[in-house]
Amino acid sequence: MKTIKLKPGKEESVLRRHPWIFSGAIASLSAGLNEGDLVTVTDSRGEVLGTGHYQIGSIAVRMLEFNSSALPDDFFMQRLESAFRLRETLGLIRPDNDCYRLVHGEGDFLPGLVVDIYGDTAVMQAHSPGMHMARGEVADALTMLPGARIRNVYYKSDTTLPFKAGLDAENGYLIGQYDGNIATENGLQFNIDWLKGQKTGFFVDQRENRALLEKFARGKRVLNMFCYTGGFSVYAMRGGALQVDSVDSSAKAVSLTEANIQLNFPDDPRHHAYTEDAFKFLSDMKKDEYDLIILDPPAFAKHRGAIKNGLIGYRRLNTRAFEKIKPGGILFTFSCSQAISRDMFRMAVFTASVKAGRRVRILHQLSQPADHPVDIAHPEGEYLKGLVLQVE
Ligand code: SAH
Repeated sequence: MKTIKLKPGKEESVLRRHPWIFSGAIASLSAGLNEGDLVTVTDSRGEVLGTGHYQIGSIAVRMLEFNSSALPDDFFMQRLESAFRLRETLGLIRPDNDCYRLVHGEGDFLPGLVVDIYGDTAVMQAHSPGMHMARGEVADALTMLPGARIRNVYYKSDTTLPFKAGLDAENGYLIGQYDGNIATENGLQFNIDWLKGQKTGFFVDQRENRALLEKFARGKRVLNMFCYTGGFSVYAMRGGALQVDSVDSSAKAVSLTEANIQLNFPDDPRHHAYTEDAFKFLSDMKKDEYDLIILDPPAFAKHRGAIKNGLIGYRRLNTRAFEKIKPGGILFTFSCSQAISRDMFRMAVFTASVKAGRRVRILHQLSQPADHPVDIAHPEGEYLKGLVLQVE
């Protein structure tokens, strides 16, 4: 096995089981080490710290196993079985719910790998060259996973792999093929477009927050801003909303939303969808038109350098919503920017409430669901935060 030796003192974070080794921590590496190779990591004295996937870049190694210089033969099967058992424990595998995240990278001790399940299809994303190389092995293990009934594995890593690695990963089925695309979440049906949609085709991470929204929806006029596939809209409809308006700047997203409404509530006159920019829609709309508003924008800060502008974006967006929401109304507001902390986001929303001159109470503090677990040694895995607010 090829090895990487760390500089003195640089083993500390590895001993605390943080799964990333940065390139600056490395003293020497074996000749002929290639991107995606499995590598044994040692401290400066040659003591084995563990085994990981090597790549060129600021994160040089993603650790797969600690205190061992090799992986067991059935490594992927072991980790996938344990990930699947957790989803069973969480009660996510039911006849009325066949849509969940099976592997959340570091949170499932599989750094660089994401797997979402839609019915009997697994959509797999590699974020590291090592996981790209292992894709065949992972796909085989997925279809053999006891109890999971996965028949098709679609590989979708063209946008997630490091661009510079030049792997030219092609999207496509590694195993099987599925012509349908309907998955069930909490008894509601969704068309999932894993071929052309964003990420793996659906935002599985909002499942519980959508279910909470449903409880607030009865008799309300709802605005679902940044609707994408219309997840929040479909739940609001089932919750008995009086009216649901969905808005997204992408015409493709609006047609996905319309298809999902049609699938669950055919020809229901309560729903309308608009292709429009969020800031324009919020500026143009009348005051007091909505008493329940959802703001689930794309990440405004995609890296640490973008935090300042990201916070400005969240402040502006939430100010618009506070200015327009009906007195007594409820706002569900989110940030999925990993670089923006819970406290920073809350402060931005607080500032927005002051600017809009509204008195606001926090009813719920939301996060990513348990099928997106956070390894306590890797706080970087936490990204989704939300607030449910009542606006006087
Ligand atoms: N709430 C969705 C996920 C939202 S993803 C769900 O539960 O599935 C973010 C969406 O915001 C994308 O569909 C994107 O097209 C849309 N978007 C990005 N910028 C926008 C803008 N300026 N105005 C309106 N929509 C925008």
